[in-house]
Formats: sequence, C-alpha cells, structure tokens
Amino acid sequence: MPYMNSTIAENYQRTLKAIEQTCQRNQRAAGDVLLLSVSKTHPVELVTAAYATGARDFGENYVQEAVDKIEALDALMPDNQAIWHFIGPLQSNKTRLVAEYFDWVHSVDRLKIAQRLSEQRPASRAPLNLCLQVNISQQDSKSGCAPDEATALALSIAQLPNLRLRGLMAIPAPMNSADSWAQQRAPFDALRVLFERIKAQLPPEQASFFDTLSMGMSDDYELAIAAGSTIVRVGTAIFGARHYSNELETQ
Ligand SMILES: *Cc1c(COP(=O)(O)O)cnc(C)c1O
Repeated sequence: MPYMNSTIAENYQRTLKAIEQTCQRNQRAAGDVLLLSVSKTHPVELVTAAYATGARDFGENYVQEAVDKIEALDALMPDNQAIWHFIGPLQSNKTRLVAEYFDWVHSVDRLKIAQRLSEQRPASRAPLNLCLQVNISQQDSKSGCAPDEATALALSIAQLPNLRLRGLMAIPAPMNSADSWAQQRAPFDALRVLFERIKAQLPPEQASFFDTLSMGMSDDYELAIAAGSTIVRVGTAIFGARHYSNELETQ
C-alpha cells in the first residue's frame, strides 16, 4: 500500500490506547484528552490514512503547506469532518489565511495577532478557537508570552469578537534524562496552575469556554496527561520522522 497506511493506523491506535491507559492510571476519563495528529511536513495521503482509522483533529505549523493540504483533503473527500489546528509560530502577514482555513490556533502569544485573527475571521464561520501560548520554561528566544504576562493578555483576548479563548498551550524546554519524574513534570504543572488562576479571573461566560490545556508531544504526553493536559499534540509517534525541506523552513 502506498504511504504505509497500515503503519499509520497501528501507530494511531497504539497512541490512543496509551493515552487511555495513562488517563486510567491518573484517575481521568479517557474522553478528557484529545489526540491531535500533527501532520506537518507529511503529505495529504498520510492525513487520509490517519482519517481512515478515526483521526479528525490535525495539527499544522506552516501556513502555506497547511492551506494546500486542507484544499487537497477537501478535493479528495468533499464531506470530510477534519478539524484543523494551527500550532506553529504565526506572523502578522499570515493571519488572514489562518483565520480563513483553521478551526483552532494554539500559538497566539501577542494581542496584535489575536486582534488580526478576530478581524479576519469570516462571518460565515464559527468563532476561531484560540489558545494562548506561554513560554513556561522561560527560554530565551522562544515563542510564547512570559508567564507573568499571561493573565492580562488572556483577559484582553477573551474580549475580542469572533474568537473563543479556550486555554493555554506550552512547549516546555527539552527534558534532561537525568531529571527526576517530578522535575520533568514541573513545567506542565506550572501551566496548569496558571490556567486555573486565569480561569478564576475570567468573566463567567468566558470562563465556561476556557477548558483546554494543550501540552504534551510524542516524547512527553504521558507526563502532560498526569499534569492535566486536555490536548496532546503528537506527530512522530503517529507519522514517523519528519524530513524538513528548505522551502518549509523558510516559510
Ligand atoms: C511538531 C510539533 C509537535 C509534534 O511533535 P512530535 O515530537 O513529533 O510529537 C507538537 N507541537 C508543536 C507545537 C509542534 O511544532
């Protein structure tokens, strides 16, 4: 079979099972955690393979690559129910396409980007779901707002029309294998504490939509689930290794 559809199906089902078992071990309901299949750099054929085994939520990082893929999937499967999540760094000049094509954006870290997404969201579409990205490990030159700016930013973004502020996203600093389990888990716990603090300050209606902790990737989603993640973003464990072309890196 082209593109090893059976491998993708096995990987996806294995990951779902691992999420379910991790939920059980942590006294959480399996339905609490959404598996977001991160398809960046992979062709639309791999998206259709994951879709065939049940995946509906797909994550992409590069705007033009994603738009091409969304259009290709719509052409192949006109009635598909795929839900597209933008999870990469977002520049102002790319917000229009994201507002038009996506259902979710996890990587908003500035008010200006949120304002543009709000203005550019087509009236015909449901509000765009948004997560505020927080630089939880306070790494230099990394995306995400500073943790101490997050509350003010969230309160401002939650006021904007055509958007729905759903929660927080973070990519913690890479783990050191010598770190203890508690040390590795600490940034995820810190994001959850920040999430709860913000939720308590949002007006009641906006607080009711604020339900998402987007944290955990192929190597650390079990730790993230133990700490309260509600969306894990998994690429490699489902689709295999990525091969970056120069074209993608410069987008
Ligand atoms: C690429 C990417 C992922 C997926 O990473 P894997 O380690 O392949 O699971 C998750 N989140 C973000 C923001 C990414 O850019």
